[in-house]
Amino acid sequence: MNTITTFTMIKPDAVRAGHIGAILDDIIKAGFKLVAIKYMQLNQDTAGIFYQVHKERPFFKDLVTFMSSGPIVAAVLEKENAVEDFRKLIGATDPSKAEPGTIRAKYASSIQENAVHGSDSNENADIEASFFFSGLERHPDFL
Ligand code: UDP
Repeated sequence: MNTITTFTMIKPDAVRAGHIGAILDDIIKAGFKLVAIKYMQLNQDTAGIFYQVHKERPFFKDLVTFMSSGPIVAAVLEKENAVEDFRKLIGATDPSKAEPGTIRAKYASSIQENAVHGSDSNENADIEASFFFSGLERHPDFL
């Protein structure tokens, strides 16, 4: 069965640049339903935990500093084939390699400050959504 859930963040660069509204609009127009959303700031510890899979990578320290440098928008999205379709919508990690029209091509400025996060697997989508949201904060599309 195709997964219906993915997790996203609008990163501090895109929030600072005033792109929250435009990015959410792109996401919703692409057929994703918002089932949870919050505006918050990560600290160095929580950003480090979120990106712990990259802790041995040379960019880890800078990434944690960047991700805790200002507010983010965290959200859980639902759509058939959500993980794969959302990765297509955001484009490649490096915005200079992202397909035209993708969110990173439109709003990202560098491989680090790349505007948005999108889960890379069904398993990580569940882990990441649970890291940010309790069951009470999520509103499945059952109505
Ligand atoms: N990143 C970075 N330098 C790199 C590669 C990645 O700063 O050389 C950052 C970037 O913000 C990226 C995040 O680390 O989104 C996680 O990297 P990953 O390879 O998982 O890319 P993603 O899944 O976000 O496309």
